[in-house]
Amino acid sequence: MIEEYIYENYSIDFQEEYSTQNDAYYFIFNNNREIYLTKDGKIPCCHEEDLKMDFDFKLYIGTFKNKEVLITNTDCTDNFHTLFELYDLNHEEYQMAARAVLIRDWYKSHQYCGNCGTRTTIDKKDMMLICPDCGQMHYPRIAPAIIVTVDNDGKLLMAKHSYHHKHGYSLIAGFVEPGESIEDAVHREVAEEIGIKIKNLKYVKSQSWPFPNSLMLAFNADYDSGEIQVDGNEILDAKWFKPEEIEIPPSDISISSWLIDNYIKKYQGGK
Ligand SMILES: [Zn+2]
Repeated sequence: MIEEYIYENYSIDFQEEYSTQNDAYYFIFNNNREIYLTKDGKIPCCHEEDLKMDFDFKLYIGTFKNKEVLITNTDCTDNFHTLFELYDLNHEEYQMAARAVLIRDWYKSHQYCGNCGTRTTIDKKDMMLICPDCGQMHYPRIAPAIIVTVDNDGKLLMAKHSYHHKHGYSLIAGFVEPGESIEDAVHREVAEEIGIKIKNLKYVKSQSWPFPNSLMLAFNADYDSGEIQVDGNEILDAKWFKPEEIEIPPSDISISSWLIDNYIKKYQGGK
């Protein structure tokens, strides 16, 4: 995962008036949520007319490396790539694109008020769409989710999920439910999915995960009590893995791979 601060090279700004007299970074998405890259695999930094594309909208979100950043959407498909492909090419540009895609999704899906159906208008100062009729404010939506390593005396708990069983075994993760704390969510997810109790819960790190709009909150915990019991439906299997038995994820893009890597390092050369 990327550990650099997003604001190292990026300054947030959001206003209707911006000048694009100079070259600007264009984060162009298509309707498949893919991103346009130049032939040499970069985010285009140019004048709009050089792009020769029709855009559905154009949103200014501040400056990246002292150049204006614009987010757009188009129905073109040539030279578009997944965000995973961009991550492999350029971590910094991926980090910006991961923000840009969330703003693109929000803007595209809130053109009409969800409360009364009136066409929304964009706020002049805030990144917010407001309904001129009922006053409902629509902000970009982020869904908090937890992910946890459960340690049982040098063995790591991993489960095989029915929805991505191609990936083999992975850490326990799930969305935070309305009304619960993130700590409650960790205890509940582990109990629901695996049937065991955990203790010594410790928050470690977070990551914005735009697939589709999560904020991943990572924890470490220790096994407390109970036997592994899976439902065979959502969770097909769960096991305790010694560090040398853990399958390393193919990409290091996610906080999950960061957690697994740290777990293995902790026990390397150990017992
Ligand atoms: Zn409304």
